[in-house]
Amino acid sequence: MSNHSHDAQHPLNAIEHAEGNVVLEGIKAIAQGFATVLKHHPREAVTLEYPEVMPELSDRFHGRLSLLSKSDDTDLCIGCQACARVCPCDDLIQIDMHRDDDKKPVVTRFTIDMGRCIFCGNCTEVCPVDCIKMLSDFELADYSREALVLDKKDLTLSGQESDEWRAKRGYTPTVL
Ligand code: SF4
Ligand code: SF4
Repeated sequence: MSNHSHDAQHPLNAIEHAEGNVVLEGIKAIAQGFATVLKHHPREAVTLEYPEVMPELSDRFHGRLSLLSKSDDTDLCIGCQACARVCPCDDLIQIDMHRDDDKKPVVTRFTIDMGRCIFCGNCTEVCPVDCIKMLSDFELADYSREALVLDKKDLTLSGQESDEWRAKRGYTPTVL
């Protein structure tokens, strides 16, 4: 057996050989990483530095539910329950209403449990007066389930906010 063959088979030489391979593979991986970074560097970023930079969402975005008002800040909702009936989640929308002396509807309670809402949008499509609508607000996290149950005050937009919502999306104010 030659000396050369004897050296290659020595356990210490085999370890050195293996270490050399690991270092070479490491250098190759780092070079590949840099090549990938350089390749993508000129491209426009597709991510945002949220929350410092907020995304521009579509007007059709399914975010927090809200109740639009009439332009004069009075209630638009007529308490017909159509939204509550079409909602696929049991008792998620709860409404109490009665009629005043002039037979006009008065909604005394309107709650939505946003913690159970699946943002399907069914409720917004059946409303006969275009009252219940979705905002682009998606920051809905809170510290308890109870805090996610929004009441009429939480849900209702002012007349001006409602007019802005309608104008942006081409809705005409509904006068009852
Ligand atoms: S968006 Fe869907 S799940 Fe949410 S309240 Fe409306 S109907 Fe119910
Ligand atoms: S469908 Fe519209 S009008 Fe009827 S209760 Fe719901 S929000 Fe009010």
